[in-house]
Amino acid sequence: MITKEAIKAFGSIETPFYYYDIELLNKTLQVYTSLIKKYGYSAHYALKANANPKILSIIQKAGLGADCVSGNEVAIAVKSGFPADKIVYAGVGKSDKEIKTALKAGIFSFNCESVPEIRIIDEIAASMGKIAHIALRINPDIDAHTHKYISTGRKEDKFGISPWMFNDVSELFTSCKNIRLVGLHFHVGSQIMDMGVIKLLCTRIEELQKWFIEHGYNIANLNLGGGLGVDYENPKEHPIANFEGYFDVVNKNLIVRPGQTVHFEPGRAIVAQCGHLISRVLYVKIGQRKKFAILDAGMNDLIRPALYQAHHNIENLVSDKRKMRYDVVGPVCESSDKFDSNVMLPQTKRGDLIAINTAGAYGQVMAMRYNQRDLAKAYYSDELCRK
Ligand SMILES: *Cc1c(COP(=O)(O)O)cnc(C)c1O
Repeated sequence: MITKEAIKAFGSIETPFYYYDIELLNKTLQVYTSLIKKYGYSAHYALKANANPKILSIIQKAGLGADCVSGNEVAIAVKSGFPADKIVYAGVGKSDKEIKTALKAGIFSFNCESVPEIRIIDEIAASMGKIAHIALRINPDIDAHTHKYISTGRKEDKFGISPWMFNDVSELFTSCKNIRLVGLHFHVGSQIMDMGVIKLLCTRIEELQKWFIEHGYNIANLNLGGGLGVDYENPKEHPIANFEGYFDVVNKNLIVRPGQTVHFEPGRAIVAQCGHLISRVLYVKIGQRKKFAILDAGMNDLIRPALYQAHHNIENLVSDKRKMRYDVVGPVCESSDKFDSNVMLPQTKRGDLIAINTAGAYGQVMAMRYNQRDLAKAYYSDELCRK
């Protein structure tokens, strides 16, 4: 939520910038952690969604662990106070240096994505005199029905270990002495709104873990990954993701064996709604068929529309005039630098403040300096509008 007070405070700030509603982040975390507690689950926040130090510190204080996809994320998680034994580390291409970083830190588990990777982790762990705890990231061949760039669990995706590799993996556990299997990991995609996908995942997990149990393995942890979606269309009606529905589906459909723990890796659903990209209109250009609202924020500040054809709710924070259609575009020299087409906005003029909502996840963290533009700064509701 962007309050009237906040809009007033924006008046003296150089645009574009990220604005975080810290009250909403706290409330989201409250809802999330109370459900996690209720079901006895564990959570690891996916740093790649947003690694802003203040946001990380709040999430860490709420008691979540960390889910990392690079050695630097592992290092940042440790530095931000996430306990090493609550850090999980996934990724198809872990370098030797990154593996060493994680082994030194003593993380909870490597989520391993291939046979050669497990071999290298074993070798490096042996050279360091350590035992690496590993979970197998299984590719369950499920289509998450989301954008193709954020689907990760189909058999044609690069992620995870497919069932036809299980025999080879099994041989590794006989020959490799410095790895220990601690669980199975699944992450099938992002921005999942269809709870049928989660239900199907639970069924597939049961089918897949049977193979391991039948082959004598003890599967201590089941990790269902992240992926819960948020409402990009109507953020004000649904500021908090459907955690209740999600956990209810898991609770009803996942078979959990005695002693097993169940883990999650939420990213987007924790941070998306609390973040806004705030911009000013530089020019309104009247084309033959279209009006363009040209913003001072561009794809280098928020790349999701250009990268995933993602849709964000866009708001004029200061005009209440009659609504008309605009193509809302950025200043970067790329045709894909467009936030959306045919957006209904109140009549807009140079200098108007524009909010691009639901920008807390995969926003600031993906910002870059293309066209040598400055990186957008961040401001926070609890610092900007002190009561
Ligand atoms: C990206 C990612 C997540 C978080 O996904 P969200 O859709 O942001 O919840 C969780 N686990 C892994 C392995 C990931 O790569």
